[in-house]
Amino acid sequence: MNKFHKRIFKRNDNRELFIYGRTEHTEESAQELDVTPPSSPHLRWNPSRHEWVTYSPGRENRTSFPPKKYCPFCPGSNLNFPTEIPFSGFEIAVFPNRWSSFNTHNNNIEISGIKTKPSNGHSEIIVYSDVHDDTIAEMPLDRIQLLVETWNDRYIELLSRDDVAYVLPFENRGEECGVTLHHPHGQVYCYPFIPPVIEKEVAAFHKENFILSMMESLEQKYFVYQDDDIIAAVPPFARYAYEVWIMPKKRVAGPWQFNDQQIKSFSTCFQKVVKGYDSFLNKKCPYIMGLHAAPKLEDKSFHFHIEFYPPLRSEDKPKILAGSESMAGVFIMDVLPEETAIMLREHINK
Ligand SMILES: [Zn+2]
Repeated sequence: MNKFHKRIFKRNDNRELFIYGRTEHTEESAQELDVTPPSSPHLRWNPSRHEWVTYSPGRENRTSFPPKKYCPFCPGSNLNFPTEIPFSGFEIAVFPNRWSSFNTHNNNIEISGIKTKPSNGHSEIIVYSDVHDDTIAEMPLDRIQLLVETWNDRYIELLSRDDVAYVLPFENRGEECGVTLHHPHGQVYCYPFIPPVIEKEVAAFHKENFILSMMESLEQKYFVYQDDDIIAAVPPFARYAYEVWIMPKKRVAGPWQFNDQQIKSFSTCFQKVVKGYDSFLNKKCPYIMGLHAAPKLEDKSFHFHIEFYPPLRSEDKPKILAGSESMAGVFIMDVLPEETAIMLREHINK
């Protein structure tokens, strides 16, 4: 197993910046960003959908589309202004989101007739590289493995918190998915409750491991990449034209249960899927990607997987969640998963 170093750097606001790497990070810090007041988001109960909605006023002031030289995720000490990472280099950096939609505090607000509570929890940014225009598709495989190990470290630490019920690492890629900063990065949201989509999945896995049940047809018709440990497939019930799931062939509750070989297979597959998407569209493919792991480190039924949703209807036509999807929750599809699997398989296995 490769070396895994974690540096904990106490910031000027007393919160922690983590630097993960294969080599130990000992550099002295340069100037830090100014201290920002912590966010106090709140939750309101939507009695129609039986779902919480988070309100985080102040988010509209967040940094948006800076020119490259003002990127807040580039290493700061080479520049003449501070950034989130006050060093001249790093492998992977993780720090709290300054405009978090989930942040443990006790400032509730009252609204008559509506149930509210503080939007407790936490959220973090994971910067995958210190190179501004780096991409998952082109990184050395070991960097993806380091990213998986970083996710695992975050899962183990964050799931132990009393104010966190679910940890969701995800990435929005491309302006089509609302990305305002193009430096390669993802996020980790820590919810104080189990989010509704995950709650449904937990219930589904309690009834049956549908991933294992459909594994044979996935391997035959729907796969876009596979090796002994892992399969990437367009699910037969995809709601996006080029939706892909990455699934370990043997059930694990989360990537923290992977052995070294499984981490390597998973990382290879992850990179091949992103590279295949980019090759298919001939540009950086926009997508929403999220890790669906069990709510607890120990879980006997949940089957960990990653879901990718490129916001595309076909080729480069955008998919808009319109009337049926938004109002009724019923997705309408123009292309069949059997067909998109064939197209993607060619690009992912190049
Ligand atoms: Zn940058």
